[in-house]
Formats: sequence, structure tokens, C-alpha cells
Amino acid sequence: MSGNYRITLLPGDGIGPEIMAVTVEVLKTIGKQHQLEFQFQEALIGGVAIDATGKPLPEDSLAMCRDSDAVLLAAIGGYKWDNLPREQRPETGLLGLRAGLSLFANLRPATILPQLIDASTLKREIVEGVDIMVVRELTGGIYFGQPKGIFATETGSKRGVNTMAYTEAEIDRIAKVGFETAQKRSGKLCSVDKANVLDVSQLWRDRVTDISTQYPDVELSHLYVDNAAMQLVRAPKQFDTIVTGNMFGDILSDAAAMLTGSIGMLPSASLGAENPGVFEPVHGSAPDIANQDKANPLAQVLSAAMMLRYGLNEPQAAAKIEAAVMQVLDRGYRTGDIMSEGMQLVGCKEMGEALLKALAA
Ligand code: NAD
Repeated sequence: MSGNYRITLLPGDGIGPEIMAVTVEVLKTIGKQHQLEFQFQEALIGGVAIDATGKPLPEDSLAMCRDSDAVLLAAIGGYKWDNLPREQRPETGLLGLRAGLSLFANLRPATILPQLIDASTLKREIVEGVDIMVVRELTGGIYFGQPKGIFATETGSKRGVNTMAYTEAEIDRIAKVGFETAQKRSGKLCSVDKANVLDVSQLWRDRVTDISTQYPDVELSHLYVDNAAMQLVRAPKQFDTIVTGNMFGDILSDAAAMLTGSIGMLPSASLGAENPGVFEPVHGSAPDIANQDKANPLAQVLSAAMMLRYGLNEPQAAAKIEAAVMQVLDRGYRTGDIMSEGMQLVGCKEMGEALLKALAA
């Protein structure tokens, strides 16, 4: 065996177990074909963890994740747990996982697949060929800066405060992920900030410019976030890799994702410096279609491909999975979320079987 990897699986809630089951079969097949041995271990997170242990991320689960080469997460959450106090909510488990593994970089591709071009709300000529990667800083910026909170003022009315802060070290490490990601793609990096107004963004721009001297093969540009939002919907093909802070990245990655028009197709990766990365679809647990064999497993399967490429450095196996996804789409298989006229409607399991056939061919 050329690679032996321990993978922690976190199927979570809703459609999570269904899409995870398909993905594990795909990984087993690809493992045999590429002499990779995967040891899968399953752990609890989200609502199922709350039901079993009272906590959305039990210590055991975090320990198992730390003790693995990569973590494959499906989705968490559902109506049943929506009204619990914040510390017991499924989302708290997700934030705990990111913090517990110090995952500071979030990679979200937005690729327009030729087979699904009509799913985009934008015109064909605008989106055809779009292939963007948004690298978002995940553990700093305004979501975590201090002071934060709602405070009483002397007049008796309240004041809400959040603080946007970045240290040089925080900027440098995410900038490097941005440059290295651009190197693996077409060598173009756009850094997005609000340096015309925010001091923290000026520091961001200065550091990114400084770090760029270490990557002479990457062409760096800068955009203000308001202009970046406009350009994303006006002429998205100008972008290859985007690197930006936590809040700007949160918003722009959703906007970029929606260029593709299909949430069931979008994978993501969250990476840290020392701990294993977490690879998960962008979508949630889709409780409205859970346990009905209607879920699209392709975002989860593409997350496994990202795990192979960015987490385990197995790019050939990743490419094989991506090619199999393209093949099933070429053959006309569609789950309900991406269905269009003349295509063949399949469920989650049948899509999985089609993928295995494509891998075997
Ligand atoms: P959602 O992404 O779960 O669903 C939005 C819509 O897209 C639904 O109509 C759903 O059926 C559809 N959809 C999503 N994924 C699909 C797939 N793979 N195949 C086919 N259709 C799919 O978002 P929501 O409805 O806002 O949230 C539902 C639950 O998921 C909530 O509890 C929310 O907190 C949670 N959530 C979790 C994550 C995560 O685990 N990272 C992310 C977002 C939302």
C-alpha cells in the first residue's frame, strides 16, 4: 500500500448519513484502485451527539478527529434541536470542531460544470468556464475580535460591539495558503479587503503585498470588498483564487457558490497548520428531504476528493473521483435538486451506484 490513512467520519444529522454512506463506498473503491488503505472510524457530532451524550461535540469525538489524518464531515442540525440554548446547539459543535483543530483556512471552490450551466441564475456567457477558489480566514477577524457583546450605556440604552482585528501573524499564514492554493491552480491571486476605510484592512493589504515577494510565480491583485462583490456577478471569469478575511469571505464565498446555482454540488475544506483538515459539503443537513433517498451525494463525494488533494496529497485519486462525477452527469443522472428536462431522475443510492460504475469503467 502506498498510503495508509485514518479517516474520522462525522455523518451528523439529516441527510448526513445517506450522503456519507455513498462517499465511503466511493473511497473504498478508489482506495483499491490507487493502493490506498483507509481506516474509517465514526464519531458523533451535532444533533445525534446531543441526543446520545447531551453535548454537540463530545470530547471523544474531538480526540478521534485529532488522532486522524483527515476528517470527513457531512452536515449537522435539524428542527428538533433548533430551540436549545446556544451552547447545546448543533452549530456549537461545528464551531468547537473548527476551534479544537485550529482550522484557520477555509477553501471553497465555485466551479461551473458544463452539464449544470443552466442551473445558474446568470447568463450562460457570463458563467461558462467559471472556476473560482475562495480562501477565507476562519478563526480571526470580526467574528472573534474583542471586545464584543451588547453593553448598557450611561444613558440606559444598549450598545452592540464587535471588533475587527488581525495580527500580522494571522494575516501572513492565511496569505500563504492563498498563494500556495493559487500556485496549484492558474497562478492568479486576488486579495479582497476594505483598505480605503479600515485600518485592519490596510495592515492586511501591506502584509499580503509583502508576502507576495516569496511567490514571484503568482500574479497578485487587490480589490475592495464592495467592488469584489460587483465583479463576482458582473464578470466572474476574471477570478481564479481569492483570499480574504473572515466576514468578507463568509459573504463572498456564498455569492461565488451561487454562481453555480446548485448547493448540492459544492464541497469545502478547512485547514490548519498541525491538525488534520475537515472536508465537508457547503450545504446543511436538509431535514426536509432526510431519510427519503432524495439527497444529492455529489458535494460530499467532491469533499472527499478535496480531502485527497488538499489533506492527504493524493491528487491522482482526487482527479479520478472528480472525473467520475463528471461522467455520471454526462450520462444524464440527476438528483431532484439539479434535475432538468430530458435527464434521468435518481435517488441518493442510485447516484452512488452510478459513481461506482463510472469508477470501474
Ligand atoms: P440546507 O443546506 O440544509 O438546505 C437548503 C435547501 O437545499 C433545502 O431545500 C434542502 O433540501 C436543499 N439541499 C441541501 N443540500 C442538499 C443536497 N445534498 N441534496 C439535495 N438538496 C439539498 O440549509 P437550511 O435548510 O438552511 O438548514 C437546515 C439545517 O442544516 C439547519 O439545522 C442548519 O442549521 C443546518 N446547517 C448545517 C450546516 C453544516 O453542517 N455545515 C450548514 C448550513 C446549515
